[in-house]
Amino acid sequence: MNIRIGNGYDIHRLVEGRPLILGGVNIPHELGLLGHSDADVLTHAIMDAMLGALSLGDIGHYFPPTDPQWAGADSLVLLEQVHRLIWEKGWQIGNIDSVVVAERPKLKPHIEKMRDRLADVLKLKPDQIGIKATTNEKLGPVGREEGIASHAVVLLVPASKAASQPVENPQLANAQTVEIKAAIVPDIAALDKDDRLVMLVKVQEKAVGQTDISDVICWLKALSIVVPFAMTVDPEDIQIFQWDGDALSPVCSLKTADAIGHYSPEFGSGRVVWHYLCRMVEAWLDDLAYHWKSEVPPASEQIAGIGLLQRLQGGTTQAQMELRGDIVRRD
Ligand SMILES: [Zn+2]
Repeated sequence: MNIRIGNGYDIHRLVEGRPLILGGVNIPHELGLLGHSDADVLTHAIMDAMLGALSLGDIGHYFPPTDPQWAGADSLVLLEQVHRLIWEKGWQIGNIDSVVVAERPKLKPHIEKMRDRLADVLKLKPDQIGIKATTNEKLGPVGREEGIASHAVVLLVPASKAASQPVENPQLANAQTVEIKAAIVPDIAALDKDDRLVMLVKVQEKAVGQTDISDVICWLKALSIVVPFAMTVDPEDIQIFQWDGDALSPVCSLKTADAIGHYSPEFGSGRVVWHYLCRMVEAWLDDLAYHWKSEVPPASEQIAGIGLLQRLQGGTTQAQMELRGDIVRRD
């Protein structure tokens, strides 16, 4: 049987003057967890279990506490990156079970919210995530409220094996069937106002001259419908292509800073992290779709010139939307 299991453990010290964040949820308490990132001990244990299942080391290796980049980092952002890594290796999560060991505060009222947050980031159903809370019966450092510990186990299954399962995505839960030949997770999917796929976007955090379009072609070929546009983004260039079901033809190129600098004044002033580049591209696409920030968003004219703007109008974007199985969408 082709499955992998991983085990994770973490503990952080409780101190005054820090927020208590568990499973991405800020929990009111007079003490919080000390750490380089936001010290979300539950999320850290889960990440370690995910990495452990594939013998990929631990989170300290990927997000070293000596790297200022991760100071105060939102652990859900790190979780998203670990999730992506697992996907890239061809695996997805079957289920997670975890325990948070804390003497105080009472965690029960917050567990459902933690499950929802984690399920949202990991694109799982809440019932695939077990979170239990227990005390340490006043024993040891956790019992003396010097810290909070967490244990997690994660089961991974091959991503393709689950590809035959139908996905329950309310965004795409109507009428016409689109067959998906293999599970794909485009970095960003742009949908029109009727939830039809308009464009798949590939985001790369490093500019390497010619952007690699092989992923994009794989994604497009995995779908039984023709998605009319594709976009590649790196910190320097944006390329837009038209897809005819067979070949990608470049139709527009833009400077990344011109398109998304508007949504992040700090853009260009340091290393670009994949996650934030994705967020900014989404901000721009959403602005093109419904003008949340500007009447005339950057590059509107070029995007209109290739017929893309019209299709984006009133639509939405989805980051890392998992497309697998028979996806059903509105006609
Ligand atoms: Zn930790």
